[in-house]
Amino acid sequence: MSIEKSSMPTPVVRLEHFLPSNQLYIKRDDLYPFSFGGNKARKARLFWQEVKKQKADYIVTYGSSSSNHCRVIANLSAMDQMPCLIISPSENSKMTFNLNMMELFGAKILQTPVAEVKETIDKVLQDLRDKGYHPYFIMGGGHGNIGTQAYVEAYKEIKDYEEKEKIAFDYIFHASGTGTTQAGLVCGQILSQEIDRRIIGISIARKNPYGREVVIQSVKDYLAACQKENLYSEHFVEFLDAYTKDGYGSDDVTIQESIQRMLILEGIPLDATYTGKAFAGMCDFVEKNGIHNKNILFLHTGGTPLFFDYLNNNRSKS
Ligand SMILES: *Cc1c(COP(=O)(O)O)cnc(C)c1O
Repeated sequence: MSIEKSSMPTPVVRLEHFLPSNQLYIKRDDLYPFSFGGNKARKARLFWQEVKKQKADYIVTYGSSSSNHCRVIANLSAMDQMPCLIISPSENSKMTFNLNMMELFGAKILQTPVAEVKETIDKVLQDLRDKGYHPYFIMGGGHGNIGTQAYVEAYKEIKDYEEKEKIAFDYIFHASGTGTTQAGLVCGQILSQEIDRRIIGISIARKNPYGREVVIQSVKDYLAACQKENLYSEHFVEFLDAYTKDGYGSDDVTIQESIQRMLILEGIPLDATYTGKAFAGMCDFVEKNGIHNKNILFLHTGGTPLFFDYLNNNRSKS
């Protein structure tokens, strides 16, 4: 398979069983067509074009044992028979399906305390260069302008869908972590100068003001790279930090209910760290703000292996 060519738009479908006083739709980026999909696969596709262009021969990235990003990058590295080194915080190394797959793909995992991550990355890259390799470093979560570009493209897919189906989404909700996905959507909105739509990132961990500032910085970086800084307005960056729970979420009743109802009624998996949390947060926000008769799009950012971790954790508790 050539993942560089896998650029079909992901499906958008109506959800009938939630938010009955609005029209709710879901964009299935969890079905992005390789390595269990998700926003990390969408970003990784563009990073891989860069890896090829630069003729890199060693991939280095960063993430925890539950990282969707690391699983996708390890998969692509294995596909191209390239060595892959994952630097991983020793504080977060529990066994997960993503870690299982990283090992299956033959990635090397180097654990280091969070406080020493930066120097470890610098040292690893220097050592590889000294040995004659051309390493390519991908930031945790696929952060940076290339990751942002992936969601500028996703925004275009959403616009194409609207045009074809004669619909306009008043809101787009999604789980926001490093903020790259949100920055891409917001840049897509700014570049197409559509002011009547609200894109709302539901933070899965970070608190404001920091969380929002990171998104703002990514938006500015991307617009600067396109020489469109003049279009920037921070009005477009809405980062909600009311639903982070404990940073995880499998113990939270509203998140559990969302996961179970979505699986039963629509046959779609959510997880406790990202999409279940964002979906439950969106439902609460829509209700509390008295939002009615609107077209709402939930962007499903993936994380299917985490759904199975959730199932495992739940079963072992009962
Ligand atoms: C990483 C991730 C997010 C957050 O994306 P960012 O671009 O880092 O904000 C959301 N959902 C899932 C399933 C993820 O893996």
